[in-house]
Amino acid sequence: PQPADISLLTHTSRYCCCRASPLVCPNQGLIKQLDKIKEARNLEGEERSMLSYARAISVSPFPHVITHSNLKREISKLPYLGEKLLSMVEEFIKTGQINETQGILTSSRFQALSAFTTIHGIGPHTARKLYNLGLRTLEDLERYYEVEPGRCGQETLAVIEAAGRESDEAIVERSIKVALALRHDFSQTIPRAEVEEMNRVVMSELEQIEQGCKSIVVGGYRRGKPQSNDVDIVISHRNWESGAGKIKGLCKRFVRRLHERGLVTHVMHLSGFHEHNALRTHHWDSLEKALTVFVLPGDGSQRRVYRRLDLIFAAPQVFWTAVVGWTGSTMFQRDLRLYAKQQKGFKFDSSGISRRHDSKLFFPKTEREVFELLGLVYVHPTLRNA
Ligand code: ATP
Ligand code: MN
Ligand code: MN
Repeated sequence: PQPADISLLTHTSRYCCCRASPLVCPNQGLIKQLDKIKEARNLEGEERSMLSYARAISVSPFPHVITHSNLKREISKLPYLGEKLLSMVEEFIKTGQINETQGILTSSRFQALSAFTTIHGIGPHTARKLYNLGLRTLEDLERYYEVEPGRCGQETLAVIEAAGRESDEAIVERSIKVALALRHDFSQTIPRAEVEEMNRVVMSELEQIEQGCKSIVVGGYRRGKPQSNDVDIVISHRNWESGAGKIKGLCKRFVRRLHERGLVTHVMHLSGFHEHNALRTHHWDSLEKALTVFVLPGDGSQRRVYRRLDLIFAAPQVFWTAVVGWTGSTMFQRDLRLYAKQQKGFKFDSSGISRRHDSKLFFPKTEREVFELLGLVYVHPTLRNA
């Protein structure tokens, strides 16, 4: 990180894209406890309450350990820590835990719902639906979805061809089945060296069907996490003029190729093919994306672990907005959008930056330029862990 940039960030801003949020912070214990309450609210669909805990968590990487003596003076200057949250912080300082968190941890409903949502495709809503059917464990889900652990046949080519024509229900059902069958592999985190190896293999395959492409590994890896749950790669082309044309349609073509080569074994979802989002009216981005299952080539001496791999394809003009968007964190992204809207009258998401009043599009040539356009101090990726 550039020290000059860090000193310009303030820990009292309402927007986490104006604050430095390192991966590990001095108040990790407090944050862990608050995070459980946040998760419980999320699982119960209490969006607003969930967000107020998320905000409290994101301001807590306060530069030093929160103690009795600095609580009133310093902490009450922080945004989002209202009376209720402050009393929880106080309770944590006194007892080392928060009563509400202890209650959540022993709740069997919480345990079931949070186990269910570890499966890609199962959100809080689906988790509660499954719980109401009487299901309690992941083994229950295996029986319900008729999935055999470790085995998951898929007509992957047919899935690729059907992209853009499937119903949301069909997509979700397929994702759940794949994620459930391969859950023992997916629960193993991916070390940085393997993330890098996956990127190398992916890019050398890509070079064989389209020359001149480039990539950046984004997601938690780019924020400095030592272990990732999946691998997220943004792909673009080096040529500013001809690149956009080469990126269009590349997603399907490339995933087909990776599948032929035995590297992509399953496709959960291909998106960005039928959304009419030219006016950028949607919340979500309109980039071509492939959410896949990937396995590194081996020498046969040992079984390779199935990994979740997300590929995002961006024209050169929106490469850096895609990189910023997909680097996350989710909270950092959320506040970037909010800041752009409230403070600058801009619309920002992974697929671009535009000015609201005349819809003028901007095409940043570097990551720093994305921040400059939004009037923000550059925040190093490793300080975006809000
Ligand atoms: P890990 O993968 O290790 O759990 P992560 O931060 O990489 O951590 P992901 O779920 O892979 O988590 O998401 C990476 C980032 O990509 C998120 O922070 C989010 O901003 C963005 N993102 C995820 N899904 C989408 C989507 N469908 N559209 C736009 N952006 C997304
Ligand atoms: Mn990720
Ligand atoms: Mn991902």
